[in-house]
Amino acid sequence: MIYDLIIIGGGPAGITAGIYGARQKLNTLLITKNFGGQVARKAVAIENYPGFEKISGMELIKRFEKHLRKQKIDIERDEVIKLRKINNRFLILTESKNKFEARAVIIASGADPRPLEVPGEKEFIGRGLSYCCVCNGPLFQDKIVAVIGGGNAGFETAIFLSKIVKKIYILEYGPEVKADVENQERVKKTGKVEIITNAQIKKIQGDQFVNSLIYEDRKTKKEVVLAVEGIFVEIGFQPSTSFAKDLVNFNEKDEIIVDFETFQTKTPGLFAAGDVNVGKFKQIVTATGEGAKVSLAAYDYLEKLKIKNEKSN
Ligand SMILES: Cc1cc2nc3c(=O)[nH]c(=O)nc-3n(C[C@H](O)[C@H](O)[C@H](O)COP(=O)(O)OP(=O)(O)OC[C@H]3O[C@@H](n4cnc5c(N)ncnc54)[C@H](O)[C@@H]3O)c2cc1C
Repeated sequence: MIYDLIIIGGGPAGITAGIYGARQKLNTLLITKNFGGQVARKAVAIENYPGFEKISGMELIKRFEKHLRKQKIDIERDEVIKLRKINNRFLILTESKNKFEARAVIIASGADPRPLEVPGEKEFIGRGLSYCCVCNGPLFQDKIVAVIGGGNAGFETAIFLSKIVKKIYILEYGPEVKADVENQERVKKTGKVEIITNAQIKKIQGDQFVNSLIYEDRKTKKEVVLAVEGIFVEIGFQPSTSFAKDLVNFNEKDEIIVDFETFQTKTPGLFAAGDVNVGKFKQIVTATGEGAKVSLAAYDYLEKLKIKNEKSN
């Protein structure tokens, strides 16, 4: 069977595109690794999504998913690993070795946490090292943990963890933290956080679970062993686009270049919306807005394709 539309991603952009696609009576499939994307990882409440003065990321995404599931749409929990276009049809291959076909595809795969890329990191994922405090934080009751990254994400992670753990080190690569003043004040109030600047992470260590990390003090050039039982990595995000690399152009940040009128990539029928594209402002409300626009643009594309095919028959 060939779908009219396949959407890759179950974050705000993909979910909205799914709702719009289904309501336009497109035969639609949404494939996603998980629901929520970056919103589900959010450590403190969301206060800038219209209609909700204050709502947790998990709660907002639950509502999004419930709304999506009310539509006539197929949903697959899987990871897209390859996307190709052959004779006007897109072919998708997933991690579970499933194959799907569609006339149009929307990439709404957002961004994944940026890894540290140091020895021990991969080895200890799920054994003390995490990229999501909302998902794993509760496992670290009364423990000493480190948060890598002194931006807003790192500080918000520390605020979230302060209700659970005994002590938190925030390690920042630069000479100063980058979190805004409000987050710095909130972290100070917890009384549980020690900030270490000029710290370059060198290694994650442990036996069954993480028991320490090694960082280099970039000022003194000395290596320091820090005893911690948990590590939360918050050093930013990178676009999740590797499966599409033959069909799209990227900018220097690996974001997909689109035409902002139609959200189409360089390949006709292939669209990209939300954090995955070159758009400058990356928010939930901009992702949902793009999710709506991209679905309407895909509908236009499919209508034109239908007329073209009818004429040629
Ligand atoms: C710490 C933090 C705090 C934030 N706070 C706010 C805030 O307060 N307010 C606000 O408006 N915005 C906030 N943002 C930004 C907001 O979360 C993002 O702009 C928004 O989530 C982008 O939505 P998206 O759908 O484009 O991508 P994402 O949310 O990244 O979703 C991408 C989806 O695609 C799926 N996916 C990825 N690759 C594949 C693949 N190969 N196959 C199948 N599925 C795949 C993922 O599983 C995920 O479901 C915050 C972001 C972070 C990181």
